[in-house]
Parts: sequence; structure tokens; C-alpha cells
Amino acid sequence: MSLFHIIFGILILGISLLLLKRLISSLGLWQEKSRFSRIARNKEGINHIGTNRGVFDFKNSDKWLIERRLMVENQLKLRGIKNETVLKSMLTVPRHCFVPANMQKYAYLDGPLPIGEGQTISQPYIVALMAELLEPSPGNKVLEIGTGSGYAAAVLAQIVSKVYTIERHASLAAKAQEVFKALDYRNIITRVGDGTKGWPEEAPFDGILVSAGAPGVPESLCNQLKPGGRLVIPAGDRQCQELLLVRRNEDGSFSEEKLGEVVFVPLIGEEGWHQE
Ligand code: SAM
Repeated sequence: MSLFHIIFGILILGISLLLLKRLISSLGLWQEKSRFSRIARNKEGINHIGTNRGVFDFKNSDKWLIERRLMVENQLKLRGIKNETVLKSMLTVPRHCFVPANMQKYAYLDGPLPIGEGQTISQPYIVALMAELLEPSPGNKVLEIGTGSGYAAAVLAQIVSKVYTIERHASLAAKAQEVFKALDYRNIITRVGDGTKGWPEEAPFDGILVSAGAPGVPESLCNQLKPGGRLVIPAGDRQCQELLLVRRNEDGSFSEEKLGEVVFVPLIGEEGWHQE
């Protein structure tokens, strides 16, 4: 066999592979058809949304979906999360879209991850636990303090009708808003500011979730709960807090339940810690 035959052979092989890739692509198998990756391809600047996932992108073998299934089974169900709507939401929301590009491969691991500004996206189990404690249902209006990456707000937005979320770092709020837009979460309203004062113009709320550790329960937040409403908040010292469930009873009084130790970044604000 001459050198010409070898080069000719390699060329034919290369062209065949290219044609095969085009054929697969035209059959729709190359890119996942979910709204998430479709949007990711269009949206410049949000390259941390799942792109370049090659042949694993077609629907049922989406590697992110497999990772989410494992997360739900091993991290959530085995630890006692039972609320079906919360489990379904955790299975649906693409957590990897809410973390920086260099963290994507760790998105479904059992822990918090850095998101910039010295802040974190909470551990999946903690997000699920706090969401379950709120007992969210479809017609609810929920307030979240500490948008961070936006992930917890998205988990709630899959279940309730409206999520109001407040973040004190403008850069984090802007990033989260970009992801909400890209993923088409129209029922999340974001605001930059001190969440310890709540969102009086939109009160009362069926549920309030505080995603940062407070020195105590902010009075403003309690006052913005509906009768029958629930507030979930980590409260204690700066190093370690107790997860609290505060219920507003129908007669307007409050009851409080302690649910175990947690560690959160501090809630900074007028009714929180006064310094970073
Ligand atoms: N829920 C977030 C997520 O899913 O990524 C994680 C939140 S992170 C653990 C806590 C967030 O609370 C940080 O982004 C921090 O900047 C924010 N934060 C702290 N104090 C705040 C305040 N008074 N008002 C609003 N946001 C606050």
C-alpha cells in the first residue's frame, strides 16, 4: 500500500466521521432538547449553563439528570426528605447552571460551593430540608432572604406561585437574575438590599426562608408572615446556628421549633449581624 493510499484512506475516514456527526445532529440527538440547554446555546455570557455535553446530551441519558437522580436518592431520600413536590423540584432544577463554570463538575456533590463575594450555594440536603419545612404549595407566595446563586429560589419557584428573593450583593443578584431569565423562571422577583427588613410592600407571605445565619429571629420577618405561615431560619452565633421553624398561629401568636445544628454564612443587616 502506497503513502497516497494511506492519506486517501485517512481523508475518507475523516469526511465519513464529519457526515455521521451531522446526521446525528440533524436527528436531534447531539443536543438535549430541554429548555435548559436550548437557552444555554443562545445566551452569551452564561456559558456555565450546561453546554458542550456532546452525545450525552440527549434526553434520557443526560449526565446531569443522572447526577440529579443520584443526589435525590442518596443525599435527600436516604436522609429522610419525603415531600414529593420538593423531591421532584430538586430532580428538575439544574443546579449546575447556578454555580460558576469551574464548579460545575461538583454541582451535585453533597456540600456547599463558593459562588463569589465570599458566599456559598447551600448543600443540596439543606436546601431540600428548608424547602420541606416551609410546606410549600402551589398557590403560595414565598419570600427568600439571601438569593446567593438563585438555586433555592428556583427550587421553590417550581412549587409555589411566586417567589420574592432579596440579596445584599448586587453582583450575585445580577448573576442569579441572568440565570432565572435564561431558564425562564418568570415567577421569581429579585431585589438588592437588606433582607432582614423583609419586603413590606409584598407582605404577608405564606412562607419565609432565610438562607443566612442570624443572631436571632428578625421581628420584621415575623410580622410579614400570614397567620398559619412558616419561617425557616438558622439562628445562633456566627460559627454555628440552630435551624428554627417559626409558625405564626391563627391567633397571631408565634411558636418555635428547633431542628438541629447548621452552619451558614452570616445574615448581615439592620436586624442581623452588623459587620461582615
Ligand atoms: N440561597 C442561596 C443559594 O441557593 O445559592 C444561598 C445563600 S448564601 C448561603 C447566603 C446569602 O445571603 C449570601 O449570598 C449573602 O450575601 C446573603 N445575605 C446575607 N445577609 C443578607 C441580607 N441582610 N439581605 C439579603 N441577603 C443577605
